[in-house]
Amino acid sequence: MAAVVMDGKALAAKIKGDVRLQVEGMERRPGLAVVLVGEDPAALSYEAGKQRDCRQCGIYYDTFRLPGEVSQEELAEVIQSLNDREDIDGILLLLPLPRHLDQRRAVLAIRADKDVDCVHPANMGDLVLGMDSLRPCTPAGVMRLLEEYQIDPGGRRCVVVGRSNIVGKPQAMLLLQKHGTVTVCHTRTSDLAAECRQADILVAAAGRPGLITGDMVKEGAAVIDVSINPDGQGGLCGDVDFAAAAEHAAFITPVPGGVGPVTRAMLMENTLRAALRHGKR
Ligand code: NAD
Repeated sequence: MAAVVMDGKALAAKIKGDVRLQVEGMERRPGLAVVLVGEDPAALSYEAGKQRDCRQCGIYYDTFRLPGEVSQEELAEVIQSLNDREDIDGILLLLPLPRHLDQRRAVLAIRADKDVDCVHPANMGDLVLGMDSLRPCTPAGVMRLLEEYQIDPGGRRCVVVGRSNIVGKPQAMLLLQKHGTVTVCHTRTSDLAAECRQADILVAAAGRPGLITGDMVKEGAAVIDVSINPDGQGGLCGDVDFAAAAEHAAFITPVPGGVGPVTRAMLMENTLRAALRHGKR
């Protein structure tokens, strides 16, 4: 079977185009602030990407680069000042924070209605309760990809590999909301291959290159590879053996160019949603 390769770049361009169009029609434009602690090169490049995305969408952007040795109180003050600013609708605090900082306290300091990355327990709680809330960008991006390719989780077996707070757990909740029958696998799962072989929709988010081999993919499945791993040759790869899995799957995402770009676009959409909720028109 020749799998359809799901084009995350094209979908991201479409989502960002729609956001831009809406923003252009608004009197007060949405605003995003990114807070970055320390000088991690990966975080700096990630932050530059957000700035580019905002520029493309017409979203106001502000960035706060704090020194690695910033105190909890100083960080809280920056977050509070952003909570109070009307031009800022979304606050993205880049995680993880340096070890001397209490990450939970920092996250709790973000106003839930500005938590565009959905890390605040109030938004995670709403997600579990099935309330309309800001949704975490990566799992929401996976749902958008499924929707784009008209893959309905309703009544299908969905297997999520990974149970992190930012990907696996919220992914399971979103699939459940769409009436999927969801299994979550992790490092203690006794027979991962057997679980995966049951999946009509398989979401891999373990961060382990080569974990999902071709024989773990059910004929006709949709295989969504969330992971972004260094491939050892200066490039990136996911968890799935793409070529082998594509022989069995009906749909498959590439890495790069699959979930990643859609995740970035979802942050723009969340910032717009937050602005609309703040009454900006
Ligand atoms: P994490 O390390 O916090 O969690 C990984 C999860 O996978 C854990 O729950 C663990 O139990 C499970 N796991 C690990 N090895 C396993 C194995 N051998 N068998 C079964 N389960 C196993 O990682 P994360 O933050 O959830 O990220 C996962 C991957 O997704 C990473 O590669 C990360 O770079 C990527 N990611 C991509 C995006 C995106 O936009 N595409 C966003 C966030 C994370």
